Amino acid sequence: MVTINKSLAINAGTAAAIGKIIVLHSTDDMEATAKQMATYEHRVWRSAQTFVHFGVDDQGAYQVGTPGRVAWGAGNVNRYAPVQIELCEFSDKTRAMKAYHNWIALAAAMAKQYGVPRTLDDGNRTAGFKSHLWCSRNYGGSDHGDPYPYLTKLGISKAQLAKDLGAATGSVTTSAAAPATSTASAGVDGYWGTATTTKLQRLYGTTVDGVVSSQYNWHNAGLTGGWQFVGKPVGSLLIAAIQRALGVKADGILGPDTIKAMQRKAGTPVDGKISAQSQLVMYMQKCANAGKRPF
Ligand SMILES: [Zn+2]
Repeated sequence: MVTINKSLAINAGTAAAIGKIIVLHSTDDMEATAKQMATYEHRVWRSAQTFVHFGVDDQGAYQVGTPGRVAWGAGNVNRYAPVQIELCEFSDKTRAMKAYHNWIALAAAMAKQYGVPRTLDDGNRTAGFKSHLWCSRNYGGSDHGDPYPYLTKLGISKAQLAKDLGAATGSVTTSAAAPATSTASAGVDGYWGTATTTKLQRLYGTTVDGVVSSQYNWHNAGLTGGWQFVGKPVGSLLIAAIQRALGVKADGILGPDTIKAMQRKAGTPVDGKISAQSQLVMYMQKCANAGKRPF
């Protein structure tokens, strides 16, 4: 049984996958946990243009992309893959093997769910388990060779991988809800994503959809999922409501002046930016969890 934690899931809004491929990756990032991988992808997927559906380690799995929809982890094969899974790499053999078996179990469970044949790296170009190496060779758009170099270090051959994938009886359970449906007490993390937006929208009485629409894409590391960045923004009702509460120009666009006004009101450092693990956002999240408007 593999536990899937969805607290870092993103709503990427990409299309449904059209094939039955499960892409098997390994992270090439020794000792990084699934939570760390998911935290990173959750934060940078818009700018880095890369994420997968799951990261798996010795504890279980974290979901990033929505299974069934296209993720951006394996170049031109992405559109055929309803599921892409990263295996986290560890130097400790016990952790490494636990992670490996969780990875296999999740792959098997997803194969069942999406009708994926349990073949590995064969000639079928739209179905089956495929290593990232196979994807690079057969489709291009990426040049990775994982997961084989790491598996070789663990003493697992391609034949063994194929055998394990064929034999696994995968089952999954969910330990934490996706951000958009998280409970009121969750998520004081200093990142402004869909969960925070949803709570604020309820408090300010604007449309509740978890999306801050039509904003400038200027660099703010603390803004995560649910931000709609466009070339010529017209602003969002939520930001306009916050601006009215602050007594600043209510154009609906979150710029440095608005952020400074928010920071002054919150009593956090006034720099006009929303950085990673932002104190301003934590203040807003605490207020929202207590059911009160932050401004
Ligand atoms: Zn890969």
